[in-house]
Amino acid sequence: MGRVAQIISKVENKEELINLLNCAFAEEWLAYYQYWIGARVAKGLERPKIVEEFMEHAVEELKHADWLANRIIQLGAVPILDPDEWKLRAKCKYDAPINGDTKILVEQNLTAEKCAIARYQQICEMCQGKDYETFNISRKILKEEIEHEQEMEDFLEDFKYY
Ligand code: FE
Ligand code: FE
Repeated sequence: MGRVAQIISKVENKEELINLLNCAFAEEWLAYYQYWIGARVAKGLERPKIVEEFMEHAVEELKHADWLANRIIQLGAVPILDPDEWKLRAKCKYDAPINGDTKILVEQNLTAEKCAIARYQQICEMCQGKDYETFNISRKILKEEIEHEQEMEDFLEDFKYY
């Protein structure tokens, strides 16, 4: 456990930062599963393309969870250990894809992406100028969530032409 790594974070409320990072961590696991299971139950318009894109996003969400877990540990805290807590701690909610219609799946993921963007914007604001490494990680994730949102919106736009 890196001692200097912990003291150089100048965020005033360390507990709140860890809490936000753990909420984001839970949200990433749920986002991962939302895409992963969505890719399996998808049916309808553009199914092969949707499945391919969902699987790409799933891999990225899992990578985000990985970055967050490592950062939480570097800050001297513990990532959520019990998956039962994922849904309790996540503000960006998991929406079970009961209807596999690709249009509905894309809308569910778009909602999650909008929430994720707000989450990383929030963490960036908290860390800017105070905790460069957490800021850097959050900014990298934010960039990818913005791309995810764009891709979901592009699908919805394309669906209008069918
Ligand atoms: Fe993510
Ligand atoms: Fe995403």
